[in-house]
Amino acid sequence: MIIVLKPDATAADVARIEQQIREWGLRPHTSVGTERSVIGVIGDESLLANKPIDVFPGVESVMRIQKPYKLASREFRAASTRISIPWGTPGGEPVDIGGDRVVVVGGPCSVEQPDIMRATAEYLLATGARMLRAGAFKPRTSPYAFQGLGVEGLRILAEIRAETGLPFITEVMDTRDVEMVAEMADVVQIGARNTQNFSLLKAVGRTRTPVLLKRGISGTIEELLMSAEYILSQGNDKVIVCERGIRTFEKATRNTLDLNAVPVLKKLTHLPVAVDPSHGVGIAEFVAPMALAGVACGADLLLVETHPDPRTATSDGAQTLDAAQFKRMMDGVRGVAAAIGRTV
Ligand code: PEP
Ligand code: MN
Repeated sequence: MIIVLKPDATAADVARIEQQIREWGLRPHTSVGTERSVIGVIGDESLLANKPIDVFPGVESVMRIQKPYKLASREFRAASTRISIPWGTPGGEPVDIGGDRVVVVGGPCSVEQPDIMRATAEYLLATGARMLRAGAFKPRTSPYAFQGLGVEGLRILAEIRAETGLPFITEVMDTRDVEMVAEMADVVQIGARNTQNFSLLKAVGRTRTPVLLKRGISGTIEELLMSAEYILSQGNDKVIVCERGIRTFEKATRNTLDLNAVPVLKKLTHLPVAVDPSHGVGIAEFVAPMALAGVACGADLLLVETHPDPRTATSDGAQTLDAAQFKRMMDGVRGVAAAIGRTV
């Protein structure tokens, strides 16, 4: 349920309503807007049956949200959420996710040695990418495959940020690491294998670090939004939802990048929407066309795997663009963005 407040509702009116909601056994979640504020009521709404909410001073109307996710829904917040990430060196322009500018995030699948990360950062900056991605903790299908550099990987990412200014996104897989990763990273990633790891979602929800939440490998759009709701319901309102391909009967590509999800998500949620064409197709030569398609259908952020020499990448080399391929993709992305009135 959403309680829409009158434009002239006072702080005391809001406090009284919040108090009453708590007394009824639910949790108020107040969102202050420029014109008016709304209070989302979180919890078992059946407790509100026949409760006289609309008679409270300051209340304009009461809306029941039919969808199972509330805080993530467009009904709760009509204006698109924007997330600002500070630049990693003094004076740099912050990265604004969810605005007119499409944010491109590039980097290897796994954190590589500093010289490789540095070389990657250089061509990211030269081509207009705004953030670095790389996994320090890797969710590998095989327990015998490279598992990532761990804490050392985080240190490398922080070092490259200090040198170049590029903020970074990196995955967290274990609730015990959440505090540390959230402290160091600019955005924490929840991978496709953990989209419904509810303890992990609640743990990142308790931090205030932005979260990039991948869609589950066989997850529906609604399940993705329910997972976002877990994070939001813990008080972290900085969530980016990411289409990264789903498992279908099709074998020609690693996954099927479901670009239908982009306009659907833009309608259903106020959260920024990301597209990961690398895991979506799994084959380097198809990544750029799908990146362009992702921008064309409304993605706010692209997450793309790139490495100066994909043949030597410690993971996902087959879907990784080299510097020249990445640059060509960026040229295309810029053209598509301009065609739909956005920039890169
Ligand atoms: C990744 O981004 O490197 C990754 C492992 O992604 P996903 O969880 O989508 O497979
Ligand atoms: Mn990968």
